[in-house]
Amino acid sequence: MDDLVILTEYGLYCPQADLFIDPWKAVKKAIITHGHSDHARSGSENYLCHHQSIPILKSRLGNIAVQGLEYKETFTINGVTISLHPAGHVVGSAQVRLEYKGEVWVISGDYKTQPDGICEPFEPVTCHTFITESTFGLPFFQWQTQSVVMQQIQQWWKKNQSEGISSVLFAYSLGKAQRILANLDNSLGPIIVHGATHAMNEACRRSGIVLPQTYRVSELPNASWCKGALVIAPSSAAGSPWLKRFEPYRTAVASGWMAMRGARRWQAADRGFVLSDHADWHGLNLAIQATGAEQVLVTHGYTDLFSRWLCEQGLKSSVLKTQFRGEQVNEPETEITEV
Ligand SMILES: [Zn+2]
Ligand SMILES: [Zn+2]
Repeated sequence: MDDLVILTEYGLYCPQADLFIDPWKAVKKAIITHGHSDHARSGSENYLCHHQSIPILKSRLGNIAVQGLEYKETFTINGVTISLHPAGHVVGSAQVRLEYKGEVWVISGDYKTQPDGICEPFEPVTCHTFITESTFGLPFFQWQTQSVVMQQIQQWWKKNQSEGISSVLFAYSLGKAQRILANLDNSLGPIIVHGATHAMNEACRRSGIVLPQTYRVSELPNASWCKGALVIAPSSAAGSPWLKRFEPYRTAVASGWMAMRGARRWQAADRGFVLSDHADWHGLNLAIQATGAEQVLVTHGYTDLFSRWLCEQGLKSSVLKTQFRGEQVNEPETEITEV
C-alpha cells in the first residue's frame, strides 16, 4: 500500500485524493487544520477546514474560497474518505483523518490533551499511521492544570492592581488570549486588548465562542480606565509606544517556554506563566498510545529526539521535515500594529 500522505515541496500531500494539508505554498486544494500562520497560508484556490476556523482564516487570509465541515462529517474524493476531528489546540482546530482501502492515516496538526474550556477537547482517532507534532516533546515539559495557572494570573493582576499598576500580559492572539479571557474572573476590572488580539476575539465570537467583554483603547470612556487594568497583547507590542498609556505597568508572558529558566527572563518580562496550547510530554505520549498507531511520523519540535524515543517504545517512527514552527515566544502572526 502506498503512503497516504507524503512530503512535497508544497507541504503534506495525499496523492490518492490530490489534496494538501496545511501547505506552505499555494495549491489547488488545501485542508487547513487551524488558523495559526504556519498552518494557514494564503494563495491557495480552495480551502477546507472546520467551520469554526472560517472566520479566523478570513480574518487572516482575506476573502478566500473556503468550505466548512463539522467534526466527524465525512466526504469522499477518489475513494479517500476524509473527516475532521477535534484537536483541542485552538478554536476550530482539527485533526485530519484519511481512509483509503482500509488504511487510516491521521494528521494531528497542533494539539493539546488538556481541556481549555474554549475549544472542543482533543479526541484520539484510531489509525495505522499518526502524524504528530512534538513542540514540547521532552520529559522536562509537564504542564500544571489550567486552573492553577489561571489562579496565578489572577493573583498577579490583583496584586498589581492593589499597587495602582497595570498588568500587561503577552499571549498568542489566537488560542491563549481567548483561553485566558474565558477562564479569568473579570470582575476585578476592565480587560483591554490589543488590535491583533481583538481581531481574533471577534473571529472566535463570530464562530459562536462566548467571551467576556473586552475593550480596545479607542473604546475606553476615559484614560483612567487604563490604571490597574489587565492588558492582553501579542509579544510584538512589547516596548511599543502603544503600551505607554498603561504606565506604570508590569509585564508577563504566557507560554510553554516559560517552563525554562532562560525563557522566563524573556525581554525582561516581570513574570512568566507556563501556559501552552500544545501537549506536554505526557500528553503527546498518551495521545499517540490512544491512536493505536503502529507508525508515527513527527513533523515539528524536538523531532529527532522524540522520534528516537518512539522507536525505543517499539513503534515505527521517522521525522517529516515540515515548515511548521510550533509555539514561539514571539508570535509570528501579528500583522496588526497599533500606536
Ligand atoms: Zn498552532
Ligand atoms: Zn504548529
